[in-house]
Amino acid sequence: MIPNNFQYHRAASVDDALTLMAKHGMDAKLLAGGHSLLPAMKLRLNQPDVLIDIGHLKELRYIKKEGNELVIGAGATHDDIAHSQMARETFSMLSEAADLIGDVQVRNKGTLGGSLAHADPAADWPAVMIAAHANIEVKGPQGTRTVAADDFFTGFFSTALADNEIITAIRIPEPPKGTNSSYQKFMQPASRFAIVGCAASITMNGRLCSKVSVAFTGLSDAAFRASNIEAALFEKMPTEENITAAVQKAGEGVMAMSDHFASEEYRLHLARVFAKRALMAAAK
Ligand SMILES: Cc1cc2nc3c(=O)[nH]c(=O)nc-3n(C[C@H](O)[C@H](O)[C@H](O)COP(=O)(O)OP(=O)(O)OC[C@H]3O[C@@H](n4cnc5c(N)ncnc54)[C@H](O)[C@@H]3O)c2cc1C
Repeated sequence: MIPNNFQYHRAASVDDALTLMAKHGMDAKLLAGGHSLLPAMKLRLNQPDVLIDIGHLKELRYIKKEGNELVIGAGATHDDIAHSQMARETFSMLSEAADLIGDVQVRNKGTLGGSLAHADPAADWPAVMIAAHANIEVKGPQGTRTVAADDFFTGFFSTALADNEIITAIRIPEPPKGTNSSYQKFMQPASRFAIVGCAASITMNGRLCSKVSVAFTGLSDAAFRASNIEAALFEKMPTEENITAAVQKAGEGVMAMSDHFASEEYRLHLARVFAKRALMAAAK
């Protein structure tokens, strides 16, 4: 449980971190809250020679409104989000998900940016960000670019982030009036990671759903949007009957994971159960 030797650099700013990344290349890793990277280093699953610490950078730690977007700095901790009134008012699933992550220590140190970059298939934020139609802002030597959350998670622990880029912010468009959301998960009892988690948001126009967003985590090798469930509820009333029928499509066309926590069949069952809970809560 002791990591390999490594050099430690405390970056003075995002730009300084980019310079250090350019200097050390593939030997370096960013360190934010350390709650995914350090356990992986202790298990020698990850053995960087250089750590570039960005965990203390104030320029990355904020939650604010900019025009019609909620903007969350990559360095905002899970706890910052759990306690942000602005986040709760934009999408209640943001605070619900934050509250369900790990324990107090994990929530106090772990960051949104770190969780998205790590892309653990059982992490909560990826599903929430897909359901929220978030855009992930990343900075590299060539400047800043934005990647839609839908395109960001490319597979098992892999993302669209290049090795020389830093996630700087997450931009969440203000949902239309009449939108309500929920995040529900079946958690591993010790770590509280999602065995299956579902983020759902519904916008009502009169008695019908004018917009439905549903995303899963834990079910497959990466979080993904359940377009089939969204389509099944579009312009329908969000009744229990309609929601029950729609969630039967959970996992259709998806290679569900099977491991010592849950079999493929059990995960697919959980996906239906937790999608129904999330949609019923969002429909209230
Ligand atoms: C006991 C325990 C329980 C947990 N339970 C849960 C849970 O219930 N749900 C859940 O979702 N997660 C859980 N986690 C994971 C936790 O949320 C981590 O904090 C999170 O996944 C990583 O964030 P971090 O800031 O700690 O990143 P770090 O561990 O510092 O970094 C993780 C990876 O991201 C990279 N990175 C970090 N910041 C950036 C950035 N801004 N730009 C680009 N790359 C970056 C690092 O180089 C590294 O590769 C748990 C962790 C522990 C130890």
